[in-house]
Amino acid sequence: SNDYRVVVFGAGGVGKSSLVLRFVKGTFRESYIPTIEDTYRQVITCNKNICTLQITDTTGSHQFPAMQRLSISKGHAFILVYSITSRQSLEELRPIWEVIREIKGTEEEFPIMLVGNKCDESDAREVQSAMGENQAKAWKCNFMETSAKTNHNVKELFQELLNMEKNR
Ligand code: GDP
Ligand code: MG
Repeated sequence: SNDYRVVVFGAGGVGKSSLVLRFVKGTFRESYIPTIEDTYRQVITCNKNICTLQITDTTGSHQFPAMQRLSISKGHAFILVYSITSRQSLEELRPIWEVIREIKGTEEEFPIMLVGNKCDESDAREVQSAMGENQAKAWKCNFMETSAKTNHNVKELFQELLNMEKNR
């Protein structure tokens, strides 16, 4: 079908909703509003075809396991978000990465982007860029640092995922 489904995972508070809202609506808010699970749809052109980009913003680690497995099996691409201000938030991605690998297998290539968000908060940085890059290499995924607040690399993140899909 012409649906391209992207699922966003990561611990609570790392900026998943902020990244999605920045991309889809161009807005940013300072307050933290925990998410249930939201899906946003955008009509885009890819490979000269009209297709629907569907972005699912999950609740993070507190998602029910059955729901998590369902969003993974339906997903075409994954964004794994941590905050550069929290080493723990990077560590919390491991179990979700393992479930993605388990469900999707290692044979088929599917785009995963490891994202270090809040890169505007350089004074509070706990995860160096090199550490993020190394983790991405170990997990065989791409890597990017973003800021939903300053709009750094947000468009590029989604564009890159679409490019990875085209190059399959
Ligand atoms: P989620 O739980 O992963 O969906 O996180 P949210 O998107 O709700 O963001 C949690 C908090 O972090 C909110 O107070 C946001 O304003 C803030 N936040 C999100 N992205 C950024 C960012 O890039 N930079 C900074 N400084 N704060 C951010
Ligand atoms: Mg959220």
